[in-house]
Amino acid sequence: MTAIQEKVAGLREQLVAWRRHLHMHPEVGFHEYETSAYIEAELQQMPGLTVTRPTATSVLAVLKGGQPGRTVLLRADIDALPIHEENNFEFASTRPGVMHACGHDGHTAILLGVAKLLSEHPQDVPGEVRMIFQHAEEIGPGGAEELVMNTDLMSGVDVVTGLHLNSQLPAGVVAVKPGAFMAAPDMIELTIRGKGGHGAHPEETVDPIAVGAQVVTNLQHVVSRHVAAQDALVVSITRFASGTTHNVIPDTAELMGTVRTFDPALRERAPQLIERVIKGVCEAHGATYDLRYELGYRPLINTDWVAAQLKAIALDVVGAEQFREARPTMGGEDFSAYLEKAPGAYFNVGSGSDEADSRWPHHHPRFTIDEASLEAGVRMLHAAALRLTGPDAQL
Ligand SMILES: [Zn+2]
Ligand SMILES: [Zn+2]
Repeated sequence: MTAIQEKVAGLREQLVAWRRHLHMHPEVGFHEYETSAYIEAELQQMPGLTVTRPTATSVLAVLKGGQPGRTVLLRADIDALPIHEENNFEFASTRPGVMHACGHDGHTAILLGVAKLLSEHPQDVPGEVRMIFQHAEEIGPGGAEELVMNTDLMSGVDVVTGLHLNSQLPAGVVAVKPGAFMAAPDMIELTIRGKGGHGAHPEETVDPIAVGAQVVTNLQHVVSRHVAAQDALVVSITRFASGTTHNVIPDTAELMGTVRTFDPALRERAPQLIERVIKGVCEAHGATYDLRYELGYRPLINTDWVAAQLKAIALDVVGAEQFREARPTMGGEDFSAYLEKAPGAYFNVGSGSDEADSRWPHHHPRFTIDEASLEAGVRMLHAAALRLTGPDAQL
């Protein structure tokens, strides 16, 4: 075992204790009052860190290293989800309807571990390490946007990194890729206005359900017939609500959905393509519509050289057997807000295993992590903090 592996192994119980405390006391985005107070109290016990509160429920720890170097930002998200936990652990959520079902309890424990390691040897750290415990990743417009726009968190930051645990990868595996990694999750809300009437006399009505059904199927033509196959686009209608009973044609139908893209040019083109279909179908059948198209987080595009550095770090830290080239995912992440201001890359650490029964998908009421993944996360982020601030990093 290397010295750092030993140090991280020595942190094992502490990492698990942090994660379990957070898991028992989840809070949703913008309401992480106890969570942020807990994080702040833990950080206050680590010498050499300057701890502040950039927003009401986020916490920033800054470590000024003992050697010249660059400034790196490490990010962990701290919020939970409005999900009722179905696990029976002794450390299961104590709050009905709220649960850490995405692994942010693990991210927080990992970054606390990194803060502890760095604070023990500040003289070995080049440059400056900023560690942001970010609120509200799960709720748009997101905590990252607030921190980037309304605080000076990013001023002087040379490079940014962070990780997400991933239950679909084996525990301890590290995955990273250059370029497009996660999608922009935009949202549509559509009301189709027809003319209601008796179910027996559809000819006297404009049936918004029949029109809506055509809209749903025709929207897939945008994906398959107006966009090149290699340009990723997902359109999913995820809500379709209309009507009251079997013999009444309603006036309106309400639809919601998500539109996911990587490519900024396609993202810009998608609203027109989608509205053209909605307009055409509605007009063809005598209906009208209201469309609200809301942009979500930006696509998460990793900076090539940072991704390459993280890969090199992973090969050193976890080894080639535990490294994977990441596949892009159509999920979204507000980590992309930091990448607007500085180069950086986001990566995954696997948290799935049969022993821990932790292969459930994220946002599932049975979600959990294999706690062995916490150590891999600490080793990766700790090494990233030292290397990305040091003389080997390329800019
Ligand atoms: Zn999530
Ligand atoms: Zn998440």
